[in-house]
Amino acid sequence: MKPYPIPRGSSPLLSRVDTTDPVVFITIDDGLVRDPRVAQLLADHGATATLFLNSGPIRLDPGYFVPFLWIGGSINTHTSHHPHLRGLDFNAQRKEICAVVQQIDKVYGGNGGYFRPPYGEWDRTTLAAAASCGVRAVLLWKETMADGQIRTQGSKPIQPGDIVLLHFRTDLYDNLTALFAQLDLQGLSVARLEDYLPAA
Ligand SMILES: [Zn+2]
Repeated sequence: MKPYPIPRGSSPLLSRVDTTDPVVFITIDDGLVRDPRVAQLLADHGATATLFLNSGPIRLDPGYFVPFLWIGGSINTHTSHHPHLRGLDFNAQRKEICAVVQQIDKVYGGNGGYFRPPYGEWDRTTLAAAASCGVRAVLLWKETMADGQIRTQGSKPIQPGDIVLLHFRTDLYDNLTALFAQLDLQGLSVARLEDYLPAA
């Protein structure tokens, strides 16, 4: 593994962005089911997405994710093997996180610079390991979508600044369609997460 400089400290952890702009952020994880209509659907709604991928889908089908870059999206690490990170030692966590950072650099010529821990599970070691891989922020989420339904935390509706989690699964197209309908009702649009987070 190519050595990265190890910065001191920890990557910050965020599940929403502090903004009053009427925007939310779409994130899509894993990469297992790759529906060819998804990047176009985002583009048709003037939207983009921040992707968090494991190494397998990038290796198997690198070209699938390129159109997401064309529409302003970014590709970021979600670990090589999707483990439960909590409790693993620094080197084990670092290896899982950094390996995909390097893979993305190699395949796409640049990495988005963010990290999402599998299952949203993390500990203090995770934040230090992420920082050591050059990760600028560890991103969780406020809403998830499954079977065309938005699941918010508690009873609150989707709020400006929220990060929405979706997955590359068979229901992704329908989930995005339902999400866009809800955002229209609330007068919200989708912004590019990178425009609201600290740059490299
Ligand atoms: Zn995942």
